[in-house]
Amino acid sequence: MSILSTFDLTGRTAIVTGGYRGLGLAFARGLAEAGADVVIGARDGAASQEAARDLAEETGRRTRGIALDVTDPASCEAAVAAAVELGGGLDVLVNNAGACFHAPALDVTAQELRTVLDTNVGGVFEMSRAAARAMIPAGRGSIVNIGSMSGDIVNRPQLQPIYNASKAAVHHLTKSLAMEWAEHGIRVNAVAPGYVKTEMAPVDDPSLRQRWIDDAPMKRYAMPEEIAPAVLFFASDASSFATGSVLTVDGGYTVV
Ligand code: NDP
Repeated sequence: MSILSTFDLTGRTAIVTGGYRGLGLAFARGLAEAGADVVIGARDGAASQEAARDLAEETGRRTRGIALDVTDPASCEAAVAAAVELGGGLDVLVNNAGACFHAPALDVTAQELRTVLDTNVGGVFEMSRAAARAMIPAGRGSIVNIGSMSGDIVNRPQLQPIYNASKAAVHHLTKSLAMEWAEHGIRVNAVAPGYVKTEMAPVDDPSLRQRWIDDAPMKRYAMPEEIAPAVLFFASDASSFATGSVLTVDGGYTVV
């Protein structure tokens, strides 16, 4: 087997949560370019459908866009059912959907607390459980969680205590599920990005420039396409001996 063929996803089916924009869209495109059929799911079902249609045109893969709320277990089950209907099974789940609010701890509202934890931790857990119910009978599968360098450091100058805690939880949930499901052939890994230009991260805001960019070893942010290869690595057989790993891709931000 050639080394590049281990990255090939031909004949595999994947779900990318939050896959119609930002990092999720780059992940969906990367998986489709590698050969996978892809389901894109987010609360905005119309945007998901449009992105899925565009992706099918670009790559020739079978795709589907669906309305998905990862905080609703029934919606997670329906997303897995859609993938099974599209491809006959589910091989890859990318838990990308996430929420973040910037506020000092004393100003965080009860609603913000719930939204961040329910989306970033509960959503990863419920989507992973729904996926595992389809993957266990097949005896194989790869789950890739999108954590963050915020799971290891405390970002400045913006304050986001619950987001940081939620991403630390994603990293540890990754290890916990990796241990629990290894016997079923399911690998569970995480990618922890640094700052990436998306709607979530205002990387061009001058007030953030010193801490976010100037203090970083590579002195720049990433584009979503620079994180996608790490997701493909974990999604594919290229990482066949990796499970419970958290791969930081941050331009060196967390080394200083
Ligand atoms: P965006 O805000 O651009 O995209 C988030 C996506 O998640 C949207 O498609 C959104 O769609 C979807 N989403 C949010 N809540 C839900 C929900 N309850 N159910 C289903 N989908 C949902 O974010 P990014 O692309 O920047 O971030 C993607 C991931 O990467 C997140 O997990 C984030 O924490 C992580 N990350 C981002 C970094 C960055 O610098 N950008 C750095 C490190 C990690 P909709 O609202 O329609 O549901």
